[in-house]
Amino acid sequence: MRAPAAAVTLALSLAFAASASAATTQGGEMHTVKADGGSLDVVGASFGQRSRELEIVYRSVDAITPKLLDEAKGGQICTVFDQASLAARAVCVVRRDGKWQIRSRGERVEGSVSQPRNTELRLRFEPAAAKLRVGLADVYVTATAAGCSDQPAASSVLATPCEHRVPRAGTYPARVWDVKITGCRRHGAGQVSSGPSGKRIALTYDDGPSTYTPAFLRELRTLGVPATFFMIGQQVAANGSLVRSMLRDGNMVANHSWNHANLGGGGAGASAQLRDTNAAIRNATGFTPCLFRPPYGSTGADLVSRANAQGMTSVLWSVDPLDWRGPGTGSIVSTVLGQIRGGGIILSHDGGGPRSQTLAAMPQIVHTLKRRGYKFVTLTDLLGYSERIKLVR
Ligand code: ZN
Repeated sequence: MRAPAAAVTLALSLAFAASASAATTQGGEMHTVKADGGSLDVVGASFGQRSRELEIVYRSVDAITPKLLDEAKGGQICTVFDQASLAARAVCVVRRDGKWQIRSRGERVEGSVSQPRNTELRLRFEPAAAKLRVGLADVYVTATAAGCSDQPAASSVLATPCEHRVPRAGTYPARVWDVKITGCRRHGAGQVSSGPSGKRIALTYDDGPSTYTPAFLRELRTLGVPATFFMIGQQVAANGSLVRSMLRDGNMVANHSWNHANLGGGGAGASAQLRDTNAAIRNATGFTPCLFRPPYGSTGADLVSRANAQGMTSVLWSVDPLDWRGPGTGSIVSTVLGQIRGGGIILSHDGGGPRSQTLAAMPQIVHTLKRRGYKFVTLTDLLGYSERIKLVR
């Protein structure tokens, strides 16, 4: 099992790299200046964005060693971001506690630092983590070698500079891009009824959007958990803002056919149902689903391959409280709590009939399962799918 899995992962990461460079990278041109001489002589810097992260690359004449950036001795390379109506903000890389670290205003910035070659340092972090905001920025770089200011005054006559600025004067234009999620990428099994075992589970709601859906979204916000909504295509256009708010809240939107027909037999009509529903969701949100749930759970090999051909996994469930029958809130809660396992997919409904029992069951289900150590995630997270994003101004 190990070898095929590794091969699949490699193929996927190659495919991702190819499309990422086309669609989710902006900027990153290397600006260069002439060497100044001295320690930590930074002669190149680039500022780009890869997916959600800003990427800054520094290039120096000689190796950028941990010792040169020792924070305790004042070593650092900083990019100063000057953004309209914001105070200029320096984001710095230093060596601290034996590791590279990104810091801004005395605080650690979550991100990664790598050294593709010893004369280069590459930083990646989400702009919001450094409190930068979407839009233009004027930037410049300052590089200070550790111990720079300790040089005895007598030697400074011939000493080469230990503090460098790039560009030597002025600034470079840069941009923090806005990230729009445009879809998700399925992989692995063509049809699933649960995710990998572990402490993660997914709430799913079918047959909306309906008049009950806004209350479901409010409850999810209150509980601080996401859900995945399998929607009926013909109900989407009239509920555009509702569907957009689902995504904004961090929920996942998915395909449940155009009009809840039984598509188990497959055929061209099934493909049209799936395609039209994705088009309706895309028109409303800019997002194209990668998950499909067959109405009535009625499925078959032809239907699954048609869903896969449209970039969607067919998703069933592992827990079914039969909430659509109105068995009472207590019954819905106890069935879910009794049947749940790690990687579980909980089926429920926010449309197709009165759904107040389902809604009322949600807080108790969430609170109890959180106490048992479960984490609620979207189905795409549960299945390990990546998102497709677009960088926009
Ligand atoms: Zn349904």
